[in-house]
Amino acid sequence: MHDDIPLTVGRVTRVLKERILPAVHAESVPLTAQWHELPGEPVAPAEGLALDYTPYAVGTPWGAAWGTTWFRLTGQVPAHWAGRRVEVVADLGFDRDMTGFQCEGLVYRADGTPVKSLNPRNQWVLVADEAEAGQAVELYVEAASNPILVAGNPFVPTSEGDIVTSSSKRLYTTGRLDLAVFERDVFELALDVEVLLELQAELPAGPRRMQVLQALDDAMDRLDLQHVASTAAEARAALVDVLARPAEASAHEISAVGHAHIDSAWLWPVRETIRKVARTTSSMATLIDETDDFVYGMSSAQQYAWIKEHRPEVWERVKAAVDAGRFVPLGGMWVESDTVMPSGESLVRQFLHGQRFFETELGIRCRGVWLPDSFGYSPALPQLMRRAGFEWFFTQKISWNQVNTFPHHTFLWEGIDGSRVLSHFPPMDTYNAQLSGAEVALASRQFRESRVATGSIAPVGWGDGGGGTTREMTGRASRLADLEGSPRVRWEHPDAFFDRTREQLPHAPVWVGELYLELHRATLTSQHRTKQGNRRTEHLLVEAELWAATAAVRTGTAYPHDELDALWQQVLLQQFHDILPGTSIAWVHREAVEQYARVTEAAEAIVARSLAALVGEGDVVVEANAAPFERAGVPAGGVTPLEAQGPGAYAVSLVERDGGWVLDNGVVAVTVSAEGLLTSAVDLATGRDAISPGREGNLLQLHEDVPNRWDAWDVDRYYRNRVTDLRDVSALTAAVDDEGVARVVVERQISADSTVRQELSLAPGARLLEISQQTDWNETEKFLKVAFPLDVRAEHVAAETQFGFHRRVTHTNTSWEAAKFETSMHRFVLAEERGFGVALVNDSTYGHDVTRDVVGDDVVTTVRLSLLRAPRFPDPETDQGVQTHRYGLVVGADADVATREGALMGTSARRVRGAHGVAPLVTVTGEGIVLSSVKEAADRSGDLVVRVYESLGGRARGVLRLDLPVASVTTATLLEEPLDDGGVAVTDGDVPIVLSAFEVRTLRVVRA
Ligand SMILES: [Zn+2]
Repeated sequence: MHDDIPLTVGRVTRVLKERILPAVHAESVPLTAQWHELPGEPVAPAEGLALDYTPYAVGTPWGAAWGTTWFRLTGQVPAHWAGRRVEVVADLGFDRDMTGFQCEGLVYRADGTPVKSLNPRNQWVLVADEAEAGQAVELYVEAASNPILVAGNPFVPTSEGDIVTSSSKRLYTTGRLDLAVFERDVFELALDVEVLLELQAELPAGPRRMQVLQALDDAMDRLDLQHVASTAAEARAALVDVLARPAEASAHEISAVGHAHIDSAWLWPVRETIRKVARTTSSMATLIDETDDFVYGMSSAQQYAWIKEHRPEVWERVKAAVDAGRFVPLGGMWVESDTVMPSGESLVRQFLHGQRFFETELGIRCRGVWLPDSFGYSPALPQLMRRAGFEWFFTQKISWNQVNTFPHHTFLWEGIDGSRVLSHFPPMDTYNAQLSGAEVALASRQFRESRVATGSIAPVGWGDGGGGTTREMTGRASRLADLEGSPRVRWEHPDAFFDRTREQLPHAPVWVGELYLELHRATLTSQHRTKQGNRRTEHLLVEAELWAATAAVRTGTAYPHDELDALWQQVLLQQFHDILPGTSIAWVHREAVEQYARVTEAAEAIVARSLAALVGEGDVVVEANAAPFERAGVPAGGVTPLEAQGPGAYAVSLVERDGGWVLDNGVVAVTVSAEGLLTSAVDLATGRDAISPGREGNLLQLHEDVPNRWDAWDVDRYYRNRVTDLRDVSALTAAVDDEGVARVVVERQISADSTVRQELSLAPGARLLEISQQTDWNETEKFLKVAFPLDVRAEHVAAETQFGFHRRVTHTNTSWEAAKFETSMHRFVLAEERGFGVALVNDSTYGHDVTRDVVGDDVVTTVRLSLLRAPRFPDPETDQGVQTHRYGLVVGADADVATREGALMGTSARRVRGAHGVAPLVTVTGEGIVLSSVKEAADRSGDLVVRVYESLGGRARGVLRLDLPVASVTTATLLEEPLDDGGVAVTDGDVPIVLSAFEVRTLRVVRA
């Protein structure tokens, strides 16, 4: 027979778009609208409802950036609609392709109860399933006019990203504010047609495809295009048969879970996320009510806490849906944090605060970690997940890799200590699935474990800015449940998927080490103040806990649980995967810096209070050391009178030479050239020079840095091709200060607009040449690095991560290694060969790169710390102004020394006046064992929680000494729950301890 597939496809496509979809709400009457515009911050719903409203004409522009407009919509159901389903249809001025990135609304009844949200793909509100004649309608819409910041060319600098700089221009124009009849048959016909049209596009040539096309043609023939509503049922009848044919026995199985990835801040501030979450969850509760099998999953305890605090009526609906098993908490974390940069204690607290909230408020403990969108995953995570009780891990972000395709979708992920976690990446390559024919076919086609496993996960719904799942998506899912030619789709909890997968894959493939994202590498550096705030506050809170716990045991002072919980939760929120990485709008980063200042002030007050209680009243100057290593004679966790400290073993000499300076403290001798560069740094015990002969360290290098896309996120490899070495010195001075520390000050002009001042200091007896840097940074699209060409032939470098370090090779043999041209570190990176190593330590940066050169017979390993960037999107003023850094070169380091110097840089010595010193509560001995945390248990029982880890990558044996009356000690999970291991032996407060490589061990101490 003659056949013309494109003719059928063209016909159906046009009829669907131009006739069927518009007929869903064709019969309508306009509502009466009134409005009240509020610039600035939103008000509580009760206040919004009580505002003065004035008449509003549809089509009038409304809403300046970040403002809120309250609309009051009233009307009456026409008599002849009695018995029919009537809905409000509200188009606030939507761009259908910008769900979550533009204006949005939350609809309230007159009594203030929230109903559901309005967004571009969800413009309806139910009035009544069977309306009564003359039924009165009165609804209120809290409409947020959030500006579109990524339209068109997505990376144009804009001042709309902060309420402080945004314009007052009205951004949106309402399209339609109507009362309408919902034509159920037309709606269902649209879904039938759409699903079949998308299915046939994915089918191979053959009978199934041809029969689907014929059925679609038949349906079009039966549809009267002038009377769509009255002929829709007849058209649907032509499709019943092709929709009823079951899927193949071996069809791929898709475990769908409703979802709205809601970024806790990004192109909107935190306060808007609070409303986004309320909007999306109210819609999802509605969709749950209207369906039988739909399951919605949401992560982030913080977002649940916001609903509870700000929208109690929505919270009640969420709780009911959670109890019914339809609304499922996911992930067990406080927020979907970055996992590369937070400290080990921070990641533990993400789990602790997340799981405690879910358990306390909802009676749920999450079984898996859900991080679809974070920018790479630390190799410390598998152990932390396991020790926090998680069974599985989910992400999809690695599908964004620029170069290499990840080889698995379902696999065991192994971390630095050997822990493994069952992990899954959806082969659909998205966390915002629509369940389109193309998406489900892609999942089936790409799934890497098809030989041995049957299914994959699909998070279904509008995400990033929220929106969630729509009734169109649940309609698609029901048609795809068992349809010939398609994967099978069913709604289910991801736990059920992982349980099945574990059975199917007893020998899952294994991936060892970090899940490096080959993209967004600049997120290790952008927004330096945010990163500095994170590093400093996470150390400060651990310190506050240590002194508060010590004061509680030694003096009976109450441990400030409420205060510390609130401070931690603020720091945990800022670790969200668009805040700490520096990829949010100016508003978000401005607030992050303000929050860090508040946290710092409050945590400092806890420290001061606790130390005052500990040392008593007196005039003795005492020094407190919260670092996990002895500092200048003060033991870790102890407080010692200053005069009790012995004199320094070495004095530092400072000699001028060739216009530069030589600093020598008997341990290392450092030569600073007349250009302020390090020409040598000799370990006097071995005679080894850290700096490669003829090279110069502390060389600041300025690169042009305009990535192809994603300005704050990305640095592209070609950035290295344009570089300026900063050699010109505007001032070079040196002196030895009162404490015997030799200091060289170097000042340079970076450009006409920017300057930098460095103070290089060498203390008596130190291996560390410390550099304090102050940069007045007024550049755009530049990348500032500081280079140290090391005379070390290092096959690998060791970069600190949470509770240990990971090794990365320094060569670029394969595309996987070449793609890692910018990598992460915490407080140290160590380049080491047998017998000699050099470390770079820092107090607030995360990015670095390592390159190799061969000069003559020598291999030079150049390590560069990434200091500052200046992208212009989404914050056009990123990193402008005065910035500070502390970092340093440790000459003659191994992993032990690097760990210690990094940790010491993370905390400062404190001097206070009091009556006496204080002995440490907990002392650890044993090479490689590091004390990470001493705190009171989160359950407020008064028990102590002590955490240690093995830092060197080997077996460690030592003793934990508890200087307090102890009733018993047990090993505990990271959630601080005792393990059923019969307890731990304690003799006179001594707990013998054996740790395997990079093991994290938590002990729970019951006080006597
Ligand atoms: Zn995200």
